[in-house]
Amino acid sequence: METIHLKKAAEPELTLSQWFKNVYYAVKSTAVGMGITFKYVWGREVVTIEYPEVREELPSNSRSRLFNDAENCISCLQCAVACPVDCIYIAAVKRPTDAPKIKTKDGTPIRLDLKQYTIDTALCMYCGLCTTVCPTECLTHTTDYEYASYTLASMKYDYLAPDIRAWRTRIVKS
Ligand code: SF4
Ligand code: SF4
Repeated sequence: METIHLKKAAEPELTLSQWFKNVYYAVKSTAVGMGITFKYVWGREVVTIEYPEVREELPSNSRSRLFNDAENCISCLQCAVACPVDCIYIAAVKRPTDAPKIKTKDGTPIRLDLKQYTIDTALCMYCGLCTTVCPTECLTHTTDYEYASYTLASMKYDYLAPDIRAWRTRIVKS
């Protein structure tokens, strides 16, 4: 059988003028890059903040941490139905007929007692659909962004638990 020998294509010869061109482009691109760097090193425009001493305020319409002001929740399930990833878990029972009549702050009668309201924020994609459909507007996105967590389990928020209820004073205005 005949053996075929492949030859590597010869590299173009580096001429003196090409060498000077390469040096020129290397110096030019370094100078441009360092110019941008020094503009920010010695420039007046501040591009970073001294976090956590200084904190950015997110715009009021930010879709950050969800909060359910459970006293105003009527357990209608609309948020859970609207959620595209099914990360809202609700359980409620009918209020006894002889129980005192209670209402939300917007005057909607509360006919069910909320027993569980949990959102698994590890699954949540912050689409905002659940807040849009909430008839009493008790479910809202807040501007709170400092809730990093070490475990997935701790990202499941039980909105009836005292520690989560304590957020209210910190993150819900009014
Ligand atoms: S923001 Fe979207 S994904 Fe998150 S709980 Fe609400 S509906 Fe579900
Ligand atoms: S839509 Fe609002 S009122 Fe209805 S269950 Fe969800 S949080 Fe409660």
